[in-house]
Amino acid sequence: MSKQVSEIAKGKNFTAIDIGSWDGLLDYATGDNKGKLFLKDQMQSTGVEMSFQLLPAGTELPFFHAHKQNEEVYIVLKGKGQVQIDDQTFHVREGSVVRVAPGGNRSLKSADDSEMIYMVVQVKENSLSQWTMTDGVIATQTPKWLN
Ligand code: ZN
Repeated sequence: MSKQVSEIAKGKNFTAIDIGSWDGLLDYATGDNKGKLFLKDQMQSTGVEMSFQLLPAGTELPFFHAHKQNEEVYIVLKGKGQVQIDDQTFHVREGSVVRVAPGGNRSLKSADDSEMIYMVVQVKENSLSQWTMTDGVIATQTPKWLN
């Protein structure tokens, strides 16, 4: 059995989990895909799917894929590698952020001398109708920080 995420706290309006250190991602498995962790179910997300992936040095995803309606944003958290979208390939590294439209055929590969850890945020294309301060509401709340 693969590693399970642990819950930090849960309330009426939130879910907080701990997935552990980046290196521990290899202990998670989605089917045969070792090092891949999807979070929608654990996070009880209703509008976004998130996942983390660790590609050991010199490995690539076993397939290219596109999506039906969701765009994805790939955020490289550690290491370096390459991304190919359709027929275009480029290098990425820690700090690189790549948005891919649903129809883009994508795959990723870590460098031969570096693992690559990245996060994927998946959301319905064209679903964003308001954001930041057009959606945020300043609230009155008493701080209760822990000592
Ligand atoms: Zn995808």
